[in-house]
Amino acid sequence: MDAATRTSLPEIHAYWREHCTCALKTTATQAVPGDGNPRADVVFIGEAPGKSEDEQGRPFVGAAGKFLAEMLESIGMKREEVYITNIVKYRPPGNRDPLPQEKDACKTWLHEELFAVQPRLVVFLGRHSMNHFFPDLKISQAHGTLLIKTIEGVPTKYFLPLYHPAAALYNGSLRAELLHDFKKIPLALKKIERAR
Ligand code: URA
Repeated sequence: MDAATRTSLPEIHAYWREHCTCALKTTATQAVPGDGNPRADVVFIGEAPGKSEDEQGRPFVGAAGKFLAEMLESIGMKREEVYITNIVKYRPPGNRDPLPQEKDACKTWLHEELFAVQPRLVVFLGRHSMNHFFPDLKISQAHGTLLIKTIEGVPTKYFLPLYHPAAALYNGSLRAELLHDFKKIPLALKKIERAR
């Protein structure tokens, strides 16, 4: 089955569960594909599954996910309304940073998810996610800034980098910045709507 015939998320996930060549497959319990609304306006992209995600097979279900759900509620959105995924679909051992070859191996899976969902806005959770699309930016400088760029194979040109919720959980100043930046999501959606 080629990419053009994999149009629904269940088809995409079933294909890549079998065919993904990521080396982390051998140490992870299972794949953690994205989940949420298949027609979401907003897609959140994190880094890689942690322990709880590896056990449950769903992204952002641990402490960082709980914090993410609270932040969504603070802007009047529900988790079920958005689509949440990761750059890498398998847990790196000991939660180490994913390696470039692991990100590469999971890249087409991510891009097919984006193509299936067709979001208006992509929100990066942390630097790994942002640097996949914007390799030269620093999260300390770019967080909270709406980026507008046409990227081949990506169905939106609007991107919002945020600090990773896990990094902000136990760091008071990052937490305050993340809460502040999160409020820019509805503003970005309004701006995108006006530009249509
Ligand atoms: N951190 C991530 O980047 N992704 C998850 O799914 C959970 C924690």
